[in-house]
Amino acid sequence: MITTALLFLFGLAIGSFLNVVVFRYTPEKKVFDGTRLGGRSRCPYCGHVLGVQELVPVVSFIVQRGKCRSCGHRLSFQYPLVELVSASVFAFLPFFLNSLYGMSGAAFFSAESPLWYYGLVAAWLLAILTWVVITAIDLRHYVIPNELNAFLLVLGICITALLSAYHGSIFPFRVSFLENFSLLFSLSDSIVMNHVGGMLFGGLFFALLVLLSRGRGMGFGDVKLAFASGLVLGWPDIVLAVILSFIAGGIFGGALVLAGRKTMKDKIPFAPFLVFGFLLTIFFGHAIMEGYFGLFGL
Ligand SMILES: [Zn+2]
Repeated sequence: MITTALLFLFGLAIGSFLNVVVFRYTPEKKVFDGTRLGGRSRCPYCGHVLGVQELVPVVSFIVQRGKCRSCGHRLSFQYPLVELVSASVFAFLPFFLNSLYGMSGAAFFSAESPLWYYGLVAAWLLAILTWVVITAIDLRHYVIPNELNAFLLVLGICITALLSAYHGSIFPFRVSFLENFSLLFSLSDSIVMNHVGGMLFGGLFFALLVLLSRGRGMGFGDVKLAFASGLVLGWPDIVLAVILSFIAGGIFGGALVLAGRKTMKDKIPFAPFLVFGFLLTIFFGHAIMEGYFGLFGL
């Protein structure tokens, strides 16, 4: 309990930093630009320098009722949302991965846990946080920074290498979030082949969509995101993630059009839906497959 609470608080602080990264991002500059990340935080509307009591994650937002204390301007919901998502990921992901990989519940704080385990926990944590930052930046700027996609590609290489080298220590089938269902669909017995296959599927599928729609629907940022995330998730996980993202995007986009908030010609960033699909696949991929096959009485 105390470890979960500590991880949650640490995640809140990291989420607060990620908000700074997102709000100070401009497409002309690098994501992690020291000159932009340094310096005190200010209200984006009146420039008022934030005091210590205004910098407490989530709490300040609630106490101030979502408004700047100085000018009263409504603040973005992104602040508490990113902080809460980051905190939840820190608090729950290690334990989720423990049960997936067959580690004991206390593995995260045990000095005896193997290095590959910490490597995988760190890589998945970083991948999810990167997806959260990509979502927030795409919603604000309609762009996915290249360096974040490149970082995902590096994480994908690490995850593939660790799973490939240590799959003997992991519960059977648990190298995929679809668990036993991955056997039905996997491309090969080789983890490297499945992850490279996932990367090629993600990249080629979205490249085809961009070419067919002549760039009106998706952009090349989405192609690069699907390519890198395909290596991270691997085949068949990336396929389920893409299907779920299209279902979510279709429902949400359709609802906006029906509500008259958007027309078919409006640009809607797609990265948030892809990331939604990635997260659903990671945390509920096995349950979704079980439910789907259950429909047919299998
Ligand atoms: Zn203000």
